[in-house]
Amino acid sequence: MDTPGENRPSGWWFPARTTAYFLVVAALCLGTLSLLGLRQINSTNEMNSAVRIDRAGRAAAALLDTTVETTVRIDSQGSPQAIIMQDPALLEPDDVWDELLDDIAGVNQGAANLFRYDEDSGSFDRLSTTFRTPDGARVGGSQVEPGLISVGHPAYAALSSGTTYVGQVPVAGRLRLAYLTPILTTDGTTAGILAVDVGWVDDLNRITEETTDRAIATSLSLLAALALICVLVMFRSFRPLHRLTEAAHAIGTGDHDQTIGLTDRRDEIGYLARGLVKVSDLQRTLEHRAYNDSLTAVPNRAALVQELDRRFAQLDGNNPDSHAFALLIIDLDGFKEVNDGLGHQAGDELLVALARSLCDSLEPGEYFARLGGDEFALLSATSPNIDDHVAELAERASIQASGVFSTSAGDACVSASIGVAVIPEHGTTSTEAMRNADLALYEVKRGERGTSKVYEPAFADAFDRQLYLVAELRRVLDDEELTVVYQPIYDMDGNVRALEGLARWHDANGGPVSPAEFIPIAENVGLIDQLGSWVLERACRQITEWSATYDELPRVSINVSTLQLRNPDFVRSIAHLMERYPAAQGQLCLELTESVLVPGHGDWHQPILAALTDMGICLSIDDFGTGYSSLNYLHKLVVDQVKIDRTFIDAAIEDNNQHQLLAGIVAIGKELGLSVVLEGIETVEELELAQTLGCDLLQGYLLGKPMSPAMAAARFGVPHHHLATAPSTAA
Ligand code: C2E
Ligand code: CA
Ligand code: CA
Repeated sequence: MDTPGENRPSGWWFPARTTAYFLVVAALCLGTLSLLGLRQINSTNEMNSAVRIDRAGRAAAALLDTTVETTVRIDSQGSPQAIIMQDPALLEPDDVWDELLDDIAGVNQGAANLFRYDEDSGSFDRLSTTFRTPDGARVGGSQVEPGLISVGHPAYAALSSGTTYVGQVPVAGRLRLAYLTPILTTDGTTAGILAVDVGWVDDLNRITEETTDRAIATSLSLLAALALICVLVMFRSFRPLHRLTEAAHAIGTGDHDQTIGLTDRRDEIGYLARGLVKVSDLQRTLEHRAYNDSLTAVPNRAALVQELDRRFAQLDGNNPDSHAFALLIIDLDGFKEVNDGLGHQAGDELLVALARSLCDSLEPGEYFARLGGDEFALLSATSPNIDDHVAELAERASIQASGVFSTSAGDACVSASIGVAVIPEHGTTSTEAMRNADLALYEVKRGERGTSKVYEPAFADAFDRQLYLVAELRRVLDDEELTVVYQPIYDMDGNVRALEGLARWHDANGGPVSPAEFIPIAENVGLIDQLGSWVLERACRQITEWSATYDELPRVSINVSTLQLRNPDFVRSIAHLMERYPAAQGQLCLELTESVLVPGHGDWHQPILAALTDMGICLSIDDFGTGYSSLNYLHKLVVDQVKIDRTFIDAAIEDNNQHQLLAGIVAIGKELGLSVVLEGIETVEELELAQTLGCDLLQGYLLGKPMSPAMAAARFGVPHHHLATAPSTAA
């Protein structure tokens, strides 16, 4: 996340820096150009001066020849090297010289001087000059000015050895550019100097200085103008880039509410903007996928955990109870049957419809998510007295998630089991909350499915026991430590007509474990096939044993879980049993639970039931009246028997309407040609009632509890005293 002020560039820094770099480069270029230009000007200037002074030297030598007879010695270029004078004695102050010098100065536009060499002092004395005093008088006044060029003068060494000197000479504290030609006698001794100049050196260089100043001023103004233009252009060019940079940074930190803009530009900026839009869209899609269920489009488990964490963060305040809420985990019952019976497409349709129904019923502040498979979660709105609303909320969720949903493959029926954790009471982290709601759900699944339960600390113990039982059950199944007991089923005359085989497990550490506890566990952890096969085999072996002793045997009824029936190998395994235990043929009855009949789950069971009937197996519908069963379905099923659940006889004793209902069910069963069994006969009163109803068979603790095979066998052929003595109503 972006911490405030963290390296966040302001809009001007980048263009300003770039401008500065540009200006430095521009200044360097301009400087170099100016320098080169100035050097050129300088050298041209120097060349001009050299040409001028050379011409001045030549002109002076030529003019001298018009006054006195001289010979000029020149070099290869024609520049004078020395003037040979026939008569050096003429080098005396004279007006002639003054006039001559004025002429020379007029031609050269500079000054002119004539010197005579004084052998005694070894220096040059001036005879005449064109320099004037401020009042216009000739300097020196045509008098000899001794020793003006002597040792130490820059031209002295050259001239005293008879060589020309061209260069700067000091005059009155300044420098003049001069051409000094030695005057020699015919025998080559130094006699004097003809000196001309073209003016002050600083005057000659003034143009260079002025040009330099102008170049600097022009460069500076050019740089200033460039800077201004540059700043304007940079700001114009970089403003959209700055906007895009900010947008990119925002996208990178997960802010999706960015409007990027600039996408309709046809340049690189537009291209970049369109790229950013794509990145943003992609990121949004990825985030949506990460936090939403692809099938139902509702939030997924990750999103729920995020929401839980958000709510827990709110709870950290001073008054956590004001932010209390409930977490409901909703698990569908019968969803597997929908998938198996109507196909996965139908299952998906059901989930989508159910998620929509639950979403539509959400109230403000509530949150709904799919955890996966047929499991959903609902968070209530926060409320200080959440406990008062939990039951109502669970009821509403249960109504939304239960019932018949129509799919393209037919109607599908599911119900919802709900586990509830109340936060913060039942958890202060999302992990803890989910675990405890799960434990509550687990408790519902163990007990009465299709209901809801709020978490209690004892559930954790129950869960631990469950884990223990699962591990133990695997072991006892491998070691064959289970037993089968048999409960007699009597006809109205008191004869044992059947025995229901019931599995028994005596845990070495904890005593007997009820089948009501371990059968659902075996179903949940996939051990039911192994357990069911073992019981069936045991029963067949028992029948074979008894058949050796008794001529006429009661049938043996074995409970078969719907999961067993769904195993594609079930019919084959029964056929195999019948081959191995021929004595069991015609003696075996299978008790199937009503869930087989659940409407909307297809007719998958019909061929299985038909195949079993063909093998001479008697089929019985167990616990009739407790599930979804409808009398409509009864006639479609190829079954032989119906066992009416024991809750009916209990209720019929209490209530006359229930009595009528039971009588009706018995009558319809008989009408359909089924053998009607009434189970759960515990009292004489119930027995008498059962006798008046005209059912075929009776089972219950009053007549006989589940017992060992030996005790069961002891009852064969012995009429039951309750029935034998009671006045029989059977026809
Ligand atoms: P169920 O099929 O309804 O079996 C009858 C249960 O009712 C037995 O309980 C039996 O002991 C009990 N019972 C019989 N008469 C009375 C009575 O008069 N009053 C009362 N209150 N109860 C009576 P049990 O043996 O605990 O079995 C419970 C359930 O476990 C069975 O219900 C059956 O669904 C299942 N079960 C038991 N053994 C097996 C088995 O080997 N395979 C499968 N798949 N399920 C089994
Ligand atoms: Ca049964
Ligand atoms: Ca039963």
